Amino acid sequence: MAGEPSASDPSVGDRASSDEMWMSLAIDCARAAGRQNEVPVGAMIVRDGKILGKGNNRTIRDTDPSAHAELVAIRAAARNQGDWRLTGATLYVTLEPCAMCAGAIVLSRVSRVVFGAHDPKAGMGGSIENLLQDKRLNHYCEVVSGVHSDESTSLLQSFFRERR
Ligand code: ZN
Repeated sequence: MAGEPSASDPSVGDRASSDEMWMSLAIDCARAAGRQNEVPVGAMIVRDGKILGKGNNRTIRDTDPSAHAELVAIRAAARNQGDWRLTGATLYVTLEPCAMCAGAIVLSRVSRVVFGAHDPKAGMGGSIENLLQDKRLNHYCEVVSGVHSDESTSLLQSFFRERR
């Protein structure tokens, strides 16, 4: 039938499977954080099929409330490429970004954000507000949510269950 949507477009399928692949690596980063007793959230920044930076939560290790996975990855990516602008890059993160991270994502000009689990208590990628796509700001990201969200959610749930 004519006008059949996305599933028949091979480029959409390719992007979806590469999103899943990169998100799996972000989940590996999240697991590594959990093993160090940090909240298991991981992030990867990718451009043209290459990793620019990655990170996981390290707020306890660094005694730094700003050491969220996204910020660690953004700092690494900017340092690695010698330019603070991450235009054209995709940021993969296992949990919806908070206000601080969404602000840094907008400032760093990341083009695309792919996140896993929604965060109803802090998420600024659509759950509470959508800072990533506020057209009043000078930068606007493409956002894809829910990629491998079950895996990200169960990682977080088991982490907090063990600590209760
Ligand atoms: Zn954050």
